[in-house]
Amino acid sequence: MNVLRLDQPQPPLVRSFAYPARVLSGPAGSRVTAVCPDCGAMLDLVQPDGSDPSRVVAICLDCEGWFLLLEVEDEWSRYAVIGLPSPESVRCQLGLGGPSDS
Ligand SMILES: [Zn+2]
Repeated sequence: MNVLRLDQPQPPLVRSFAYPARVLSGPAGSRVTAVCPDCGAMLDLVQPDGSDPSRVVAICLDCEGWFLLLEVEDEWSRYAVIGLPSPESVRCQLGLGGPSDS
């Protein structure tokens, strides 16, 4: 397993990214289910922090999109779906080249 070292001596490469965000409504009190805003497939939901149920990572296995779902009103009656950039998009925006450079 590779371990990311965040204490490397060189200064970090800092860039800002824009994330597409949609605010959706759902029935209050229900378990969150969501469909991919890009292709309509059911999203696979992952809750990385079990102590914080207001943030969920969602993955579309059909189009490989990743999303952050954030509860913005009680019991998920309204929530934001924020698209996360693909690794290729991040590499491109950081100027780290394409697949031939990896
Ligand atoms: Zn999708």
